[in-house]
Amino acid sequence: MSGLLLKELGVIENSYYEASVHRPAPSQPLHGRMDAEVCVVGGGYAGLSCALELAARGFHVALLEAQRIGWGASGRNGGQAIVGFGSEGEGAIERQCPAEVAQAAWDASVEGIRLLEQRIATYGISCDHVRGYMTLAPRPHKVEGLRRWVRHMRERYDYPLEWVERAQLGRHVASDRFVAGAYDPHSGHLHPLKYCLGLGDAARRQGVEVFENSAAYRVERDNGPVVKTAEGEVRCRQVVLAGNVYLGEFGDHLAPEIAARIMPVGTYMIATEPMDAQRASALMPSRVAVSDNNLIVDYFRLSADNRLLFGAGETFSARPPGNLVQRIRARMLQVFPQTADLNIDYSWGGFVDITMNRAPDLGRIGTNLYYAQGFSGHGLSFAGMAGKLIAEAMSGDASRFDVFTRIRHHRFPGGALFRTPALVLGMWYYKLRDLL
Ligand SMILES: Cc1cc2nc3c(=O)[nH]c(=O)nc-3n(C[C@H](O)[C@H](O)[C@H](O)COP(=O)(O)OP(=O)(O)OC[C@H]3O[C@@H](n4cnc5c(N)ncnc54)[C@H](O)[C@@H]3O)c2cc1C
Repeated sequence: MSGLLLKELGVIENSYYEASVHRPAPSQPLHGRMDAEVCVVGGGYAGLSCALELAARGFHVALLEAQRIGWGASGRNGGQAIVGFGSEGEGAIERQCPAEVAQAAWDASVEGIRLLEQRIATYGISCDHVRGYMTLAPRPHKVEGLRRWVRHMRERYDYPLEWVERAQLGRHVASDRFVAGAYDPHSGHLHPLKYCLGLGDAARRQGVEVFENSAAYRVERDNGPVVKTAEGEVRCRQVVLAGNVYLGEFGDHLAPEIAARIMPVGTYMIATEPMDAQRASALMPSRVAVSDNNLIVDYFRLSADNRLLFGAGETFSARPPGNLVQRIRARMLQVFPQTADLNIDYSWGGFVDITMNRAPDLGRIGTNLYYAQGFSGHGLSFAGMAGKLIAEAMSGDASRFDVFTRIRHHRFPGGALFRTPALVLGMWYYKLRDLL
């Protein structure tokens, strides 16, 4: 798959997030040999969180990022910081694991939200964080599923979701499209790239040596790992692979054994021009983040400068659709016909790393390679938690990390070349299930 995803992303780089941050100058790429206790590959939430946590525990950490910090999903996403793993992911964990293990996984996801809020406070990360999140049923036949899920979350995890009838939805969203909703007071949203750059800054201040434009193309595993880049290498005791779907893009020798456990799914976003504050408040009075409960979700929220940010899982392959803006805009107008006069200022996208069962994929290869991937569209908060769990495991307490290593994952059939056709079929199946 080398280079394929990078090419596809090049087509769609007009990101509102990139346009609304001031990036620091890039750090120096890695030149020559260096020693570190841990080498982290990947400068998204998972890698940065792990590096930050390890450095706070006194480890000497080098972090290699192929592009810039936050270049991957962590700088492109919907900004929705949500508890849990989605109903599919939770279902998989509950089916496979004893009740106390499923409970521990759920608790870790709730802690993920607290960790994110703590880090925003501790490191003074200015990232427009707002609490409040809603899941909405877009059709009558989706209401019963939503109701069952809310009951399940309350009874099994004692999680305080609030049921919202159609007549009350206007308190949150000025749209006739939805039939009922579930309000979550703890989940919320933020500017994902500002948050990611804030983590990067905190990691540097904590002593992590960050090298941007430094793609790792090979990990030599014998005699203590050595992570190689084009112009240098890190000799270390342990390696963390946090490269998401891009890991194999820079060379096939990092960890071929985990590559086929995730599949890249394209999801795309648009940002309207800014509205005046009154109009924005009329559109979404409580400023919650929203997803519908289709299997292929639409998601939206207001930005701090009163744009409507609208995203949708649109492609059934790694290839972005040609008429991307029109397609997502059409979805936006189904929800908010009253936004038809707004210009679309930005459009961009990225890849979500889904696992077959939608539960996250954390694990070890041998004794000194750790990895975290497969967040299946729920990584904004949990990828950070996964990084913390790896740091705990490396510090000698793997009990919480091993909650997740118990989850079984299957490989997508067909390997790198044929995963996409399999996905096309799978996504059509989900789309049909949403419609019927
Ligand atoms: C458009 C979009 C919308 C989304 N919306 C949401 C949402 O609203 N809520 C939510 O919870 N989740 C959402 N997600 C998913 C979420 O963004 C991810 O789960 C999360 O960011 C994953 O973080 P990560 O650190 O694992 O990966 P990434 O952020 O992708 O970071 C991986 C990094 O590793 C680097 N890398 C890869 N290979 C190498 C290598 N060999 N050498 C050096 N560096 C390497 C890459 O350049 C990249 O920067 C969305 C994703 C997308 C794309």
